[in-house]
Amino acid sequence: MKEVFSYKNVAAQTEKLAARTGVPKHWSKRKNEKFDVHEICVFFVFFCIEEKSYRRFIAFLVDSKTLNVEKEPHWTTLEKAFKRLPPRLLRKLEQESGKCKHKLRSLDPTYFQTTNPSASYLVRIGRKIDKYKGRKVSVVICPKCDLVSDVFLRAKERHGLKDVPELLPSFVDKDVLGDKEFDAESFHEQIAQVGGRAFVPPRRIETPIWRTKGQHRKWMKKKGLPKKYTLRAHSESNNHAVKTVFGHTLNGRTFWPQARNCYGKYLGYNLIRKDRQAIFIITFYRAKTQTIFIYYLFRNEDEWMLRFVRSAGIMKLEKI
Ligand SMILES: [Zn+2]
Repeated sequence: MKEVFSYKNVAAQTEKLAARTGVPKHWSKRKNEKFDVHEICVFFVFFCIEEKSYRRFIAFLVDSKTLNVEKEPHWTTLEKAFKRLPPRLLRKLEQESGKCKHKLRSLDPTYFQTTNPSASYLVRIGRKIDKYKGRKVSVVICPKCDLVSDVFLRAKERHGLKDVPELLPSFVDKDVLGDKEFDAESFHEQIAQVGGRAFVPPRRIETPIWRTKGQHRKWMKKKGLPKKYTLRAHSESNNHAVKTVFGHTLNGRTFWPQARNCYGKYLGYNLIRKDRQAIFIITFYRAKTQTIFIYYLFRNEDEWMLRFVRSAGIMKLEKI
């Protein structure tokens, strides 16, 4: 893994991702726009990575010169442009960026704060922080390469099982690891319907098998958990990483800005992670037909990587 990520690579990947996912270049046919939607997506990812106010973010863009835009946008321009990005589209970008070829998925809900008051202020206003929950976010990750393949949050907090129908597309033909919260026959059935398999520890171990309801749950109790279940710990470490790096608070006063911020955090996280995983050592090789061999060091070759290699017209791949 690389020690640091490159802002330029992240910007290039975001633009590619937006083009691949079918994000339109312009929202309007007639309006004279200075920045197209793909550029706004790049600004948004940077904004979520940097965690700055709008004014400080523009100052950062001007001084760092990471994006070669002719003229930096006014800070209110960005504020208005981000409002126009639909959260559903950002979620789609997030799903696209987290694709990998591994067969394992791990599901774990976590809480994000919506405000970040100081401890002394809480004492003064008499709010009990242990009763304050914030927003519940269901996160699906690949425990092998630690990419986040899907995120979902809803305005009103519900049981984690209620989010499963929304997350089903990321469970197609996958082995899903869940914690005790998901010990229900309906969870097993839903995942079996899309061709996957669920592994959940039984909640009440003392109940005998003949009294356990559902064939999947009976089977789980009889066979026990597989060895790969230990990889579920990656979910917890991943949640911790996202919260420490991108902040544990969702910015915005109402639900939709918070959702936008949440999807942006995970999108930025995936892009940084991918950029750090890819290290290229390019060597030119003169053979009968001039073929470029790219020797690459990549912890997990995924679809994104292979597509890049194919598009560059490389004939042979060797792994170091
Ligand atoms: Zn993976």
